[in-house]
Amino acid sequence: MTQQNQSRYHRQELLAGIGPDGQARLRASHALVVGCGALGCAVVDILARAGIGRLTIVDRDIVERTNLQRQTLYSERDAANGTPKAIAAQRRVAEINPEVICRGEVDHVGPESVLSYARDTDVILDGLDNLHTRFLLNDVAVSLGKPYFYGGVVATRGMSMPVLRDEACLRCLFPDSSMQTGETCDTVGVLMSAVLAVSAHQATQAIKWIVGAHAAIDRSLWSMDAWTNRTTRVSLTNARDANCPCCAARNFEFLAGMHDDQAAILCGRNAVQIAPRRTGTNATMALDLRRAAVTLRAHGTFIERDGLLVGTFTSVRTNDDSAVELTLFPDGRAIVKGTTDEVFARSVYDRFVSGL
Ligand SMILES: [Zn+2]
Repeated sequence: MTQQNQSRYHRQELLAGIGPDGQARLRASHALVVGCGALGCAVVDILARAGIGRLTIVDRDIVERTNLQRQTLYSERDAANGTPKAIAAQRRVAEINPEVICRGEVDHVGPESVLSYARDTDVILDGLDNLHTRFLLNDVAVSLGKPYFYGGVVATRGMSMPVLRDEACLRCLFPDSSMQTGETCDTVGVLMSAVLAVSAHQATQAIKWIVGAHAAIDRSLWSMDAWTNRTTRVSLTNARDANCPCCAARNFEFLAGMHDDQAAILCGRNAVQIAPRRTGTNATMALDLRRAAVTLRAHGTFIERDGLLVGTFTSVRTNDDSAVELTLFPDGRAIVKGTTDEVFARSVYDRFVSGL
């Protein structure tokens, strides 16, 4: 056989666990990737090259220069143009493998939109940066009975876990979001190789599901730290929580928007006000503005003034390259100035304020 007419998936079909049948299943499958930052890029790259039939990618952000260190689908040109990640990713997938039907959606995934994306898909993978939206995906996956592959990375460590029908879900393992360390990639950084380790684990379990190799799936909460070389695995066997509000009580709180009270108020004068999100037992939030100032100074010029923290980002610009100012109140409220785009303002809030 000449190289020309040999299948592009020849080396993958040689694998005993996949073969031509598994390849056909991949081609017949539709994957939803929510969030196309570092994890999302790597997962999309793996699935597109593996020959998934359809890919839907949802992301609300634009490509920035600081993404290029780890977000493998994007280029200098995407950053210079401020291209939405979903669009840049869709274009890149067309270059990588034109056989994949890929749809990029520039959108904020919330309770009102998530079902429309998830209904028609076979697997859901997350490339997200916040636990709140992960709990939303967890709700959707459990309610629809679809497999969901969780992955998360910050600094040099990360976790991956499959959420499968009738097995433990994310909320069985993490009963509320108060376990969030408050660290985000924007505040403490992230190592690309740690992202690749986690995304490889995540995408591999999804591929095993799609090709029908269900017994081979790693049914564990798998954690690793690329710096300390520590790897742990918590078995999901018997990990179901009989009191889990999601998979046991089937009370889909995040899908119902019960925890979704982060209100964005367009306050005019080219600014958006964001109120804090209250989840679980963390109903009241008092910010230590002095500590917040120390963290935010890595991203701009911030000073405490009259009981508020105010400043301008050097690491973030709006779509039309305007400066972004932030005013932060001790109760967690923030005004994002320089934009009237609610989705952009929420994104700035989630990246820089939610984790404080
Ligand atoms: Zn559960």
